Order: sequence, then structure tokens, then C-alpha cells
Amino acid sequence: MRHNYDVIVIGCGGLGSAAAYWLAREIGSDVLAIEQFGLGHERGSSQDHSRIIRHSYHDPNYTVLAAPAYDLWAKVEAESGVQIVHKTGGLDLEMLGTTGPKDLSHCAATMAAHGIPYEELSAAEVMYRWPQFTLPDDARGLYQADSGLVDARKANAVHIALARLHGATVRDHLPVRALRSNGDAVEVETSEGVFTADHVVVAAGAWTNTLLGGLGITWPLTVTQEQVTYFATPHLREFAPDRFPVWIWRAPQGFYGFPVYGEVATKAGQDAGGEEVTAETRTFESNPRAHERLINFLESHIPRFLGPELYTKTCLYTMPPDRHFVIDAVPGHPRVTIAVDGGHAFKFATLIGRILSQLALRGQTEYPIDTFQANRAAITDPTFQPMFRNEAVVHRT
Ligand SMILES: Cc1cc2nc3c(=O)[nH]c(=O)nc-3n(C[C@H](O)[C@H](O)[C@H](O)COP(=O)(O)OP(=O)(O)OC[C@H]3O[C@@H](n4cnc5c(N)ncnc54)[C@H](O)[C@@H]3O)c2cc1C
Repeated sequence: MRHNYDVIVIGCGGLGSAAAYWLAREIGSDVLAIEQFGLGHERGSSQDHSRIIRHSYHDPNYTVLAAPAYDLWAKVEAESGVQIVHKTGGLDLEMLGTTGPKDLSHCAATMAAHGIPYEELSAAEVMYRWPQFTLPDDARGLYQADSGLVDARKANAVHIALARLHGATVRDHLPVRALRSNGDAVEVETSEGVFTADHVVVAAGAWTNTLLGGLGITWPLTVTQEQVTYFATPHLREFAPDRFPVWIWRAPQGFYGFPVYGEVATKAGQDAGGEEVTAETRTFESNPRAHERLINFLESHIPRFLGPELYTKTCLYTMPPDRHFVIDAVPGHPRVTIAVDGGHAFKFATLIGRILSQLALRGQTEYPIDTFQANRAAITDPTFQPMFRNEAVVHRT
């Protein structure tokens, strides 16, 4: 069995499978991608029918990446013949008077600065166009027509299939036990021996610190157990993707949801509403408190969205203290490139994969990623106060 490759990718979730694909397009059979569980497993962050994709970000560092992400998803769709992005339109909602760096005025400002069309709507205008919503008079909305969903499960499978088409070797059920870097190469230890590479890409999600440990590094990453619930609404036609947008409720307790897609059911969740866990201590059980918060919100604001619960699915966020991504070489280890997702990266997965491939092969990328450097204070300064978007993390007692 071959044990030396130009680049080894560790982790075949959303980001790692994308990196394997973009690397294989350039160097074909010199790529090995390794996954500890079976491909498509449900223990990480990436395996569900849908993730929101949007230009509407409060922070221009993400808005500027949205257009290239849409473009690259279109390329992957063209190459595979599989539709991955479904544009449903997207509504950001908040109460009038909401302030802070993540409010709607920041989303509007960043989109205006990048020439992205959007509409600002009163509560009455939202309810006229989408009578599915029941909003208080002092709510407001922002609509962006290109928002929609990425079919995460299909995206991962397509990236892996195309990586193989281009010559990559993909190995699942093969945990990496240790990662070591010396000046000339990187060693990847597994039960099938030590693999070596000129460069390693780490896309290990909630297991990031386990792998960084081999390099003598620990980052202040918080892993939370999040959940989404599918509701078998009887009002299917009202919530079909051509009639109902993806939506985000921007508030200290932020919620989001999808039209009927993937299951014959609507889907919604709370952003960063889960408890702090590790990849080992997490459960696959629904959190009843988070569930109740979601139901209360939906009963008040989108009552016909609800129906018998089809199922609740748990999933992990891995968040640096500032909730920005990390996309960089590991400090002191120029042959190891890493991505940490911050709990909001799927929309950019194929783009991040391309960026990782460029960093691994050329040490630089054409895309603006300065914000995501590993040597920023949020990663290096132990006194940096965590600021998770919308919701404080609830510590498990
Ligand atoms: C409930 C929920 C809702 C979300 N909604 C959105 C959304 O609407 N829009 C959006 O853009 N993003 C969203 N996200 C975030 C997005 O899904 C994640 O940012 C993304 O999936 C992260 O992918 P990843 O590849 O970093 O992690 P993962 O998918 O967890 O992949 C990491 C992989 O590495 C493997 N691995 C780890 N260690 C090893 C090892 N030692 N050896 C071999 N393999 C290893 C793991 O098994 C795993 O498969 C959401 C996340 C959750 C949980």
C-alpha cells in the first residue's frame, strides 16, 4: 500500500471533502483523504439535508466570500450534474430597536457596499408577502433573493466522488492517531502504519485539538451540541421552497429555519443554543430546553410551520472565541494547513476547500482570509473573552 503522498487531508466532513476535491483537481493521485468514521457519518457537523447559504452577513469578511462560494458551488454542480444549491430567497428578521454588530443594519450595509440587491420590509410587508409569518408590528425584515440552502449531504458525497474521479485515494474507518511535523515532511500515524506527506490539511471539526495536541498546540475552541427539528407540517404547500424562504431571527436567542426540503417536513433550530460538550461527551439526544424554546418561538411567529415532530437531529459547532473561522497554516508548522469552522461554514465549504488546496500547494490564496489567521488574539490571548453570536453558551452542570 502506498504510504507517501504530496498532500494528506485529515477529515472528510464538509471542509475536508471539499479540500480533497480541489486538491485532486490539481494533483490527482497524489492526494490521500482520511476519515476516522464511515463516509457520511453523523457524529460531526456536516451531515444533514440543508444548510443556509446567503450573502446577508453582518460582517463584510463573509459577504465578500459569498459570491465566490456561489460561483464555485455552480462549478461543482456543473461537473457532477447534481444540484447542490437551491435558491429559495432568504428573510432576516428582527425587532425594531435591535442594535449591535449583528443587527440588520449591518447586513444591509455590507450588502450595499458589495452591490448586492436586497429589500427592507416592514412587518406588515413581510406578512403580506408571506402570510405564514405572524410578526409583531415592531418587527422588520430584510429579503435577499439569492439566499437558499446547500444540500450538505449531497455536497459531501459529490466532493468525495469527484475527488476520486480526479485520482484521489479516500480512506474511511481509519482514525489518525497522531500528527507529527518535522522540517521536511509531516507524519500521519494510523493503525495501518505511518503515512507521510509534504503537506497535511487538517479539517477535523470538533476533534481539532486532539490532532493539534501532537504538535504541542491547544486552541481555545468551544464545541457545542446543537440540534434541528423536522416538523411534519400538514401545510406542505405553504412551506414549499417556491413559496417560503429560509429565514433567520436575529435576537439574543436567534432561530433559523427552512422550507420543506430533504424530508416531507419543515426544519428549524436555534443558533448556538446548545450546551458545551466535547466530541466524546456529546450525546445524540434532543435537549428538551432547547426544543421548548424553539417550539415557543414557532408557535408565536410561524404557527403553521409546526406539525408532529418527525425527528430532532444533533450536530456539533466548533467555535473559536470570536466565532470567526481559522483558515491558515498552523503557527510553527508551515506544512500543516488547518480550517476551523466556527459553526457557520457550510455555505462556504467548497470555497474553503479551494482555499485550503491553494494554501497547501502554493502557500497563498487569491481569496481574502486575513481575518481568519491563527495568530489573532482570539486564538493566542488567553484573556480574550468569548463572544458567541446571539447566545451565550450554557455550560453543562
Ligand atoms: C445544527 C447545525 C446547523 C448549521 N447550520 C449552518 C447553516 O445554516 N449554514 C452554514 O453555512 N453552516 C451551518 N452550520 C455549520 C456547518 O455545518 C459547519 O461549519 C461545517 O459542517 C463544518 O464542517 P467540518 O468539515 O469542519 O466538520 P465535520 O463535518 O465535523 O468534519 C470533520 C471530520 O474530521 C473527521 N476527523 C476528526 N478527527 C479525525 C482523525 N483523527 N482521523 C480521521 N478523521 C478525523 C471527523 O470524523 C469528521 O468527519 C451548522 C452546523 C450545525 C451543527
